[in-house]
Amino acid sequence: MGKTAFVTGGSRGIGRAIVRRLAAEGYAVGINYLQAREQAETLAAELQDLGCTALAVQADVADREAAAAAIRKVEDAFGPVTALVNNAGISQNQLFQDTPEELWHRMFAVHAGGAFHTIQAVLPHMLHEKSGGIVNISSIWGLRGAACEVAYAASKAAVIGLTRSLAAELAPSGIRVNCIAPGVIATDMAAELGESTLSMLREQTPMGRLGRPEDIAEAAAFLLREDASFITGQVLTVDGGFIL
Ligand code: NAP
Repeated sequence: MGKTAFVTGGSRGIGRAIVRRLAAEGYAVGINYLQAREQAETLAAELQDLGCTALAVQADVADREAAAAAIRKVEDAFGPVTALVNNAGISQNQLFQDTPEELWHRMFAVHAGGAFHTIQAVLPHMLHEKSGGIVNISSIWGLRGAACEVAYAASKAAVIGLTRSLAAELAPSGIRVNCIAPGVIATDMAAELGESTLSMLREQTPMGRLGRPEDIAEAAAFLLREDASFITGQVLTVDGGFIL
């Protein structure tokens, strides 16, 4: 049976780089997006032109039914998902005291809830096959904490807890669950911080540059490969040395 990957938030930034990387590795790829339909479809067309197999599917991963339906659509087209990347994410920049309750819940619904929904949707087949790879995208802020991003960091820490616990539960079934904690990566999300903050973050990065989406895509592809078959429950920090 062929390899099928499902990447949440695959329309832009880190997710798009992961989609391209996995397509190059021979996966048929489901490209999930929330709103950026044109970008997701353009990416699918780009990959098809290269002889790859890809399909853009809309879903809010915070919506259990919608997430499951998007995965079903991809599985109907390409076969069961063998590799899942939970990348969809949203950011915040405000004091804890000013954080609206809806935003607090939304952070957890998208980051931890999204992973909960997609993993439950792909697990029956993975359990049946006793194989499969899952990579969840957390953040260095989920490891270290960050001012003005308390809800974001807390929900990204939840993703790490989910990863480690689920890895322990699924290891006997031959399914690996790992996490990547990106540092500051040059995407639309990071651009929201503004140029002066970004150049400060660049200076604080021992490697002297911001990360590229491809840096994260390489790490995700590695964790999903057979080469990594004894690696599970890990948080791979890809940050140019930022939190050393
Ligand atoms: P981005 O450029 O803002 O892209 C976010 C992606 O997530 C888009 O594809 C967006 O879809 C999708 N998305 C957002 N909410 C969604 C939802 N509810 N359902 C489905 N898709 C949703 O962000 P990025 O920088 O690539 O970040 C990707 C991941 O890496 C996020 O989880 C982020 O927290 C994490 N991360 C990023 C950085 C960084 O510095 N950039 C650092 C650490 C961790 P649409 O295009 O349709 O809106």
